[in-house]
Amino acid sequence: MSLDISAIRKEFPILDQKINGKPLIYFDNAATAQRPLQVIEKMDEFSLLTNANIHRATHTLANKTTEAFESARETVRNYVNAQEVAEVIFTHGTTESINLVAFSFGEAFINQGDEVVVTEMEHHANIVPWQMMCQRRGAILKAIPFADNGELCTDQFDSIVTDKTKIIAITHVSNTLGTVNPIAAIISKAHERNIPVLIDGAQGVPHFRIDVQALDCDFYAFSGHKIYGPTGIGVLYGKRKWLDQMPPFMGGGEMIDRVTLSRTTYNQLPYKFEAGTPNYVGAIGLASAIQFVQNLDHQELTIYENQFLTAATLKLKQIEGLKIYGEAPQKAGVVSFNIDGIHPFDLGTLLDQLGIAVRTGRLCADPVMDHFGVENMVRASFSFYNTFDEIDVFYKALIRLKAMF
Ligand code: PMP
Repeated sequence: MSLDISAIRKEFPILDQKINGKPLIYFDNAATAQRPLQVIEKMDEFSLLTNANIHRATHTLANKTTEAFESARETVRNYVNAQEVAEVIFTHGTTESINLVAFSFGEAFINQGDEVVVTEMEHHANIVPWQMMCQRRGAILKAIPFADNGELCTDQFDSIVTDKTKIIAITHVSNTLGTVNPIAAIISKAHERNIPVLIDGAQGVPHFRIDVQALDCDFYAFSGHKIYGPTGIGVLYGKRKWLDQMPPFMGGGEMIDRVTLSRTTYNQLPYKFEAGTPNYVGAIGLASAIQFVQNLDHQELTIYENQFLTAATLKLKQIEGLKIYGEAPQKAGVVSFNIDGIHPFDLGTLLDQLGIAVRTGRLCADPVMDHFGVENMVRASFSFYNTFDEIDVFYKALIRLKAMF
């Protein structure tokens, strides 16, 4: 293993602190990942020296900002291997990216009686926008269920997807179960029936290198803050053939070509979908985060993350009364669980007293809670900057807390 975790950790000064008197163990990476120094410095430097609104002026700072923003778009294009920069739309996150598609694709292509297919394991961000659109357009939302081990029931695809299905929206990686879905197979099956597929990549991008052309997905949505970038910036990749036919999501500056008081013509891609002043500092930070990740050996990262997940899972399973939700054979670094007799909120609060940050609650995935008949879960989610020693501390903390109850 050539991955130098302690060198990587030095790039994340936030990790080197005590919380409630104990060394911080940050196991809440699926909610938001920490940012390396280079991202923070890049954004600070930009705000200190360059800041000006983009695309709107001829002065030097405005030109520099525009150049940096468009260069960030090229960094994203290259990272996900989109065919052209026009297919890379900056949004404020996965949520906005999905809302954009649900609204604009819905307006263009969904009619009374049509069907949209999601899955039972989606984050609310990949359910609610589709429900809203279905309500507006008179369409029906269907969901592919998952089995108790967290695997998607792909064998039900053929009965759920019909000739009325107009789009399939599915998460790459479940934020609750950790399941890695077989998206390439689903996309190819959907395309046999000419159905486009949106991938919610919020939890996919932190673990996989994405090649949208190889995947052949129609849309791929992700957030900057889950891949070591800032909050408030995200991406929608979309194939030009769809984006060209979709009406704008929001109206305002930048998305227009010409406005008269009686009618407006729209700007070309990607600007048609970027109304108003974008989060250009965020986009520049995101590009820096992508460069950071690109400089790490992806194969080594994958090996480390897989070993880490296996080690954490085996350790947690030694705890009597601990139930893990989601043990699909293809799984990323997320472990959601409950311990008999301990309320997840109590567990989360007490772990925090020991310096350990986990997520507790419904994890923005009510249907997953309903599937297992639970109100809440505890979720530990990992990154390459977590150490195996932290698993031991976590395990001992859980044993200690369990004894208290
Ligand atoms: N989808 C998934 C699978 C997620 O994990 C998240 C974030 N928890 C989202 C969508 C929404 O991302 P954001 O809040 O950054 O828009």
